Amino acid sequence: MNHLSLLRRAGYDMRADLTAVRHRAAWYSAKGPVHHNHPRCMKGALIGLKNRRPGDRGKPLCSECQVLERDRRLTAARPRVPGVEEPGG
Ligand SMILES: [Zn+2]
Repeated sequence: MNHLSLLRRAGYDMRADLTAVRHRAAWYSAKGPVHHNHPRCMKGALIGLKNRRPGDRGKPLCSECQVLERDRRLTAARPRVPGVEEPGG
């Protein structure tokens, strides 16, 4: 009896868990040509619950999400300077 079989017996699907970590939650509008994956995307946020679907369905990533994702990477790459406040907020 090893760990894995114990987890399986408990109904724990490890693959599903790993997938959730690797790919961030994506969603799309049933009426839209693109999908979204950034929580701060305004267009994605404006999708009504009635048209909102989980996943990307093979649609391209929305342009706003692309910009947000790029900004996030740039922000993460920029070294933080101690004692300097971020503007705005
Ligand atoms: Zn978006």
